[in-house]
Amino acid sequence: MKILVPVKRVVDYNVKVRVKADGTGVDIANVKMSMNPFDEIAIEEAVRLKEKGVATEVIAVSCGVAQCQETLRTAMAIGADRAILVQTEAELQPLAVAKLLAALVAKEQPGLVILGKQAIDDDANQTGQMLAALAKLPQATFASKVEVIEGRARVTREVDGGLETLSLSLPALVSTDLRLNEPRYVTLPNIMKAKKKPLDTVTPADLGVDVTPRLKTLKVAEPAARKAGIRVGSVAELVDKLRNEAKVI
Ligand code: AMP
Repeated sequence: MKILVPVKRVVDYNVKVRVKADGTGVDIANVKMSMNPFDEIAIEEAVRLKEKGVATEVIAVSCGVAQCQETLRTAMAIGADRAILVQTEAELQPLAVAKLLAALVAKEQPGLVILGKQAIDDDANQTGQMLAALAKLPQATFASKVEVIEGRARVTREVDGGLETLSLSLPALVSTDLRLNEPRYVTLPNIMKAKKKPLDTVTPADLGVDVTPRLKTLKVAEPAARKAGIRVGSVAELVDKLRNEAKVI
C-alpha cells in the first residue's frame, strides 16, 4: 500500500510575522520557512506505518515554488521514499491544492492519504476535506491514533466530549492532530541519504488543473496593540477599579 503525504512549506512557527505596510499580506521576504508542523506529524505517521510493514511506499507531495524542494527533502530525511513537486509561482488556495492532490491521487492510487489538519500560515483547515470530496475518499479528520486492521483504517479522533473511533474502508484520507505522534529528529546521515532519493517535478498544467484563485484578500491588518497594564495595591482597589472604572462588575 502506498501512502501519499502532502507537505506545505510555511513560515516557521517561531517567526513573528509582520504585516506589509500596504496591507496586502504578510512580509515573507528573508523569513525562515519550514515544513508545516502538522505535516511533519503526517510524514512521521506514514513512515511508522511503513516500518510496521503496513505500507510499502511513502510519497511526499508539495505544491508551490521551487524552494518547496527543501521541504520535500526534509520529508525524505524523515523517511519518505520519493517526492513530487507540483511547481508553480501562482498563489495557491486550498481548493486549487485539493484539485492538484486529487489529480495525483488518481495517478498514484494510494491506499491512504495522510495530511495535516491545517496549515499554520492560512489556518484554513480545508484542503483535506476538499480533497476527500474530490477524490471520493472516506475521511477521518483530527486523528490522534491511526491503525490499519484487516484492510480498514481505524482512526481515533479527539472530539469535545472525549474520543471517537471511526473505521474507514481503504483508500481513505486522514488528517493529523497534534497528539498523534512526536516526529523523530532528522539526523545528518538521513539528510544525506534524502539527497539521493527521487524528486519529480510537474506543473499544474501537466495535471490538467486550473489553479486560478477564487477568493480575493481585501486587507490584512495587525491586531490592535494591547494597552500597558497597571499594578493595584490591594484587592479592595482592584474591586473598586473593576466596578467604577471598567464597570464590569
Ligand atoms: P489548509 O487547508 O491550508 O489548512 O491545509 C491543510 C493541509 O493540506 C496541510 O497541513 C497540508 O498537509 C496540505 N496542504 C495545504 N497546502 C498545501 C500545499 N501547497 N502543498 C502541499 N500540501 C498542502
